Amino acid sequence: MPVQWEFRRVAVTGGAGFLGSHLCEQLVARGTSVLCLDNLSTGSARNLESLAEEPTFELVEHDIARRPYTAGGIDLVVHLASPASPADYLRMPVETLRVGSRGTEHALELADRNGARFLLVSTSEVYGDPLRHPQTEDYWGNVNPVGPRAVYDEAKRYAEALTTAFRASRGTGTRIARVFNTYGPRMRPADGRVVPTFIRQALAGEPITVNGDGRQTRSLCYVDDTVRGLLAVAAANRPQPVNIGRPGELPVRKLAELVRSLVGSRSPIEHVAASADDPKRRCPDITVATRELGWRPRVDVVAGLRHTIAWFTAEARAAGAAR
Ligand code: NAD
Ligand code: UDP
Repeated sequence: MPVQWEFRRVAVTGGAGFLGSHLCEQLVARGTSVLCLDNLSTGSARNLESLAEEPTFELVEHDIARRPYTAGGIDLVVHLASPASPADYLRMPVETLRVGSRGTEHALELADRNGARFLLVSTSEVYGDPLRHPQTEDYWGNVNPVGPRAVYDEAKRYAEALTTAFRASRGTGTRIARVFNTYGPRMRPADGRVVPTFIRQALAGEPITVNGDGRQTRSLCYVDDTVRGLLAVAAANRPQPVNIGRPGELPVRKLAELVRSLVGSRSPIEHVAASADDPKRRCPDITVATRELGWRPRVDVVAGLRHTIAWFTAEARAAGAAR
């Protein structure tokens, strides 16, 4: 069932990143005023170019892990700030734990001081290398606390626990969205994640690098669907976690073949070393989102990849012309 949107001013941490910039655009488009807080570590002001002249949009360079932020008149805080690509969080392990812990606390305090609602943008990584398929929200996960991915997984698990503690002890109106792999325009071509990497390699005619045997699966959701899902979780009356993702597991090797054929590339597909603790399967059960929020993804993988490839192609042309 559609839920009424009642927020007038929203603070978005991490709003200059891939997901955050699309979210800011959708918020402004529905007449909501947006305060974006970002330290620009993996995001950029360029992602928000379309909003630069909008009087209802403000970008403030701020590290939410280092210092609290004080502002009034906020009625929703959406907390996205965190490195999200494995390459980024492995490069910034302590920063990742810090933004998941102190950063989440500061974002919760901003919500608490304003009497605002708080939405934590969590991740399917809280399920780790799951032993149950598909993953339902009541599954507790299978995470190696001392593995390389722990800095991200455990930061998000802590963030969920802290969010729940604020709700229980201070009455903060919290929501938690567990987002599964999302892709689309504005991912950085070199961010190391699978979709931008494969598209960049296919466009350049370079080998497409599949980690391990490529039988590991991911379920890919197009960014517009994910953002619509986040808005639905924020507005709904459900404090427990909600999975936001597109069911439909795709082995990574098949994804490489699909990207190559959609690009029309002759790139060879090359199997390289598997990455440590790489989850073998991942697929959301979205019964809760569908039944309680009336949300479901609309964009299929081929259509979403076509949009994304078109965007990467235009970016590569613009970069070439600028040289
Ligand atoms: P991204 O790297 O593009 O965006 C992260 C943003 O957070 C960047 O703009 C970065 O500069 C900012 N940031 C990082 N540390 C900060 C700090 N200390 N203070 C202020 N800003 C800070 O990544 P993304 O894919 O857009 O992910 C955004 C959020 O969504 C993350 O919390 C991530 O865990 C979550 N998520 C994303 C996916 C996905 O597939 N894209 C899946 C699950 C969850
Ligand atoms: N992957 C790959 N080649 C790459 C980048 C990623 O085979 O160049 C694989 C990676 O090992 C994983 C999947 O693609 O199995 C998704 O990786 P990504 O980093 O995009 O997301 P996450 O592992 O966080 O789900």
